[in-house]
Amino acid sequence: MTEMKRLTEEECYRLFREQNTPDRVIRHCQEVSRVAAVIADALNRNGVAMDVELVRISALIHDVARVQDHHEIVGARLLRSLGYEREAEIVEAHMTHMLAPLSEATETDILCLADRTVTENHYTGVDGRFDYLLHKRPWSEEREKRLEDLKELTRSFMREIEGTIGQTVDSLFAPSLEQLLEQVEKPARYIGGETNMVVKDPEKMDVRFAFAFPDLYEIGMSYMGLQILYDVTNRHENLYLERVFSPAPDMEELMRKHHVPLFTLETKSPVKQMDVFGFTLQYEMSFPTILNMMELAEVPLLSRDRGEGDPLVIAGGPCAVNPEPLADFFDLFMIGDGEELLPAVLNAYGEAKREGLSKREYLQRVSKLTGVYVPSFYDVQYHPDGTVKEFVKLWEGAPDRIEKAILPDLNRVPFPEKPIVPIVEAVHDRAVVETFRGCTRGCRFCQAGMSYRPVRERSEETIRRLAEQQLKNTGHDELSLLSLSTSDYSNFEGLATELMDYCTKRNVSLSLPSLRLDSFSFNVLNEIQKYKKSGLTFAPEAGTQRLRDVINKGITEEDIFSAVEQAVELGWRTMKFYFMDGLPTETDEDLRGIGEIARKAIEIFRKSGKRGRFNVTCSVSNFVPKPFTPFQWAPQASSEELRQKHVVLEHAMPGRNARLTYHDDAVSVCEGVLARGDRRMSALLLKAHEAGCRLDAWTEYFHRDVWKELLENWEIDYKFYTERKRSFDEVMPWDLIDPGVSKEFLVREAKKAEQGLTTQDCRYGCVGCGVNRKTTCGLGGIYE
Ligand code: SF4
Repeated sequence: MTEMKRLTEEECYRLFREQNTPDRVIRHCQEVSRVAAVIADALNRNGVAMDVELVRISALIHDVARVQDHHEIVGARLLRSLGYEREAEIVEAHMTHMLAPLSEATETDILCLADRTVTENHYTGVDGRFDYLLHKRPWSEEREKRLEDLKELTRSFMREIEGTIGQTVDSLFAPSLEQLLEQVEKPARYIGGETNMVVKDPEKMDVRFAFAFPDLYEIGMSYMGLQILYDVTNRHENLYLERVFSPAPDMEELMRKHHVPLFTLETKSPVKQMDVFGFTLQYEMSFPTILNMMELAEVPLLSRDRGEGDPLVIAGGPCAVNPEPLADFFDLFMIGDGEELLPAVLNAYGEAKREGLSKREYLQRVSKLTGVYVPSFYDVQYHPDGTVKEFVKLWEGAPDRIEKAILPDLNRVPFPEKPIVPIVEAVHDRAVVETFRGCTRGCRFCQAGMSYRPVRERSEETIRRLAEQQLKNTGHDELSLLSLSTSDYSNFEGLATELMDYCTKRNVSLSLPSLRLDSFSFNVLNEIQKYKKSGLTFAPEAGTQRLRDVINKGITEEDIFSAVEQAVELGWRTMKFYFMDGLPTETDEDLRGIGEIARKAIEIFRKSGKRGRFNVTCSVSNFVPKPFTPFQWAPQASSEELRQKHVVLEHAMPGRNARLTYHDDAVSVCEGVLARGDRRMSALLLKAHEAGCRLDAWTEYFHRDVWKELLENWEIDYKFYTERKRSFDEVMPWDLIDPGVSKEFLVREAKKAEQGLTTQDCRYGCVGCGVNRKTTCGLGGIYE
């Protein structure tokens, strides 16, 4: 039997020249040829016989007569006249061929499929190709329908191939990560490999956990909670916590274009292959980024749509105290301290896997752990006026209330000695040691101050050791202490003196944020900023004593101005004051008080006779009432009110040497809606996600118009969540959660605020917050 004549690549190019085939068409043919050969080869390797070379050459020549009418017939005739019968057959069929089932597929089917995935000279997948065709021109309805049918047919053929080769066809053509990273602004955000990154063998793990921070790398890597949980979880030999951050828009665009799913930094594994996918909830405006990351990970957004094969999706962090706006998206929330709870949740998942339990059975089991909230075990019913009526258990074994997990002693859990050193410059790039958790001051606006109670200190010895180890293991030249109020550490003077000495000897700079500005702190600050005085910050929060008493700030006018005097005397020339506007009971007089503080500070400098420039910045943020604070019942100022307040503030500023900055009112309204939202918010978040919202905490990415339209057209009046004053007996959407402090205490504090009465710092005597009902309060506490 004589061998059939085979067309060669050389001959193809001769024919292109002879037929004057345009370069653009040749480039298209080259890409279709590449794609067709890869698919044919993948099929061959998986038991479906294909003549890969025939596919490759036929695809290369398929549009040789593209500029002529009925080019497939003209091209086939040309090939036949030269004796290339098999190639001619394939070329002739490529425009009209109906794809066969894979069991009967031939080389023609592969060329047809490849041709339907390439747009111009790039692989774009079936969707990309057909979207291009459908938008290329206005087609008749009938033609459009034919194209849609052809697209569906092509997709189903592709699915058959994918079932056979065990991977998506798109993934055969994904560029390598290296190729993608060559095209983005900061590739180091996505490569991992930093000093102190943990390397484990994923194959040997019981549970693999993708820990997601819903913001960019440099923001997430500044977050101490990530380093703590990374360290504590990876100390378990059978668990592997890998990090994931939101891609920046340039990277996201490439990932979507090339169908690259969200991956972890440690092993570059697709998140959907992990057992558990967990988010930290740091601020409300990151919620749409969470949905975007879930979509990029190809994980269904709604928990009810996820199957047994999908990762378990969990969340924790400060905003988890009101998990309700995200209830439909997560399988479980962890409320409270995570150091022991997170490994327990992950280990329980490993056990459940070994025992062959379903997800639901696992959730039933793990819901018994203190701090675990499984939202699907409850239904929420509403009154006709939209307020919550009650929570109804859908599984009778679910707890009545979810108590937060509290670590009674910080010294019993490890703290990172080898934190990861970020490659991209992070917001905070330094060694950090948490000195204590919790706060006793009782500021009525502060969610952290209420929900992190009770105060628990690390021992001085542990703090010293951690500082030394971190500096040694990271090479950082800055050390910072972390807590809600640095100088409230019980032996702050001793600790600060010792660390100052240690750092000076090693040429390490010491940073002590959130200092109470008394004379000792000034001496410390003066010492550590001896050569270069950075700006000094104060946080009076409100402009008048009356309002500072309402919010229980515990700072007097005298405290502020004597601190300014000392600062001026010691040589500081730049000061920043933090305030809030929109606080409960606030009047224009309180706002003018902010300008008055700036004016007096400048006057103190003038009177001091010191020389040089002196600058004061007043940074004013819009107050957003938060759950589990005494102001959780208070109305939030509307956008219009906030804008008016900003005008009053601008007029109140003393002019030269004083600068005013304030926050965007539209962002604060969105934050307010999400902070005190309920389960009905998931529909709003889905719409925000569909409209492209993500990275909204960034001024440049905040989708102002989208949010405005969504809120205004939402079936619920968004002001119900923001501007409404709640009564003390209203059931709050977050009332299923028990944060430790009692509701009675919060009500008491809210009533005292209305009367302008203060409550003492409970270091000087317990004020009955109730957290000692749940755990031992080191400060004593009283039993009610
Ligand atoms: S129980 Fe008393 S001492 Fe302890 S944190 Fe609460 S108010 Fe303060």
